[in-house]
Amino acid sequence: MSKGLLIVVSGPSGTGKGTVCSELLSQAQDLAYSISATTRQPRAGEVDGKNYYFMDKADFEKKIAEGGFLEYANVYGNYYGTPLGKIEERLAEGVDILLEIDTQGAINVMEKCPDGLFIFLVPPSLAELERRIRGRGSETEESLQKRMGSARKEIEDGKKYGYVVVNDTVKNAVQRIMAIRTAEHCRMDKN
Ligand code: 5GP
Repeated sequence: MSKGLLIVVSGPSGTGKGTVCSELLSQAQDLAYSISATTRQPRAGEVDGKNYYFMDKADFEKKIAEGGFLEYANVYGNYYGTPLGKIEERLAEGVDILLEIDTQGAINVMEKCPDGLFIFLVPPSLAELERRIRGRGSETEESLQKRMGSARKEIEDGKKYGYVVVNDTVKNAVQRIMAIRTAEHCRMDKN
């Protein structure tokens, strides 16, 4: 039996990673989602243990000290981390695991798990990204400019990923990721 794949998806804010990952999970029922822990407050509709494990800062820092995270990062002033939990066991059982994490966290995972599949999701263009963030209507002009600045920097970090996938439509992006996943399994089976 071949080992499972650790599939890591990142991308600038507003690219649509959340939507692409949800669609991926609904199409690939054998794919397991790694629920992250965070110290940020839950948003309306978010459920503890489903969207995230919501923790306070002291508990998060205790878990860091105990070596309980595969990776963690400080994103926009809050901690986010991937609980080690049963990740290694599940990969050994042949289960593919999906992580949706930021670029700092992904770069740490690249060092620890070089066999992982690292996918960077990008918008078709920076102009389109700006249009999508404006479309959400939730950002001030200042916050929008901040996000666009981080997006430019993150797109540079994207060069460290094994694959770059353009999210022109969710359907296309999901198809591309599925194809990469299949190809990677074939490559692993060869070894
Ligand atoms: P949000 O607060 O919008 O849910 O997520 C903010 C950012 O944190 C996103 O870029 C998301 O990918 C990232 N993120 C979510 N979970 C994790 C995690 O476990 N580790 C890291 N490093 N980043 C995460």
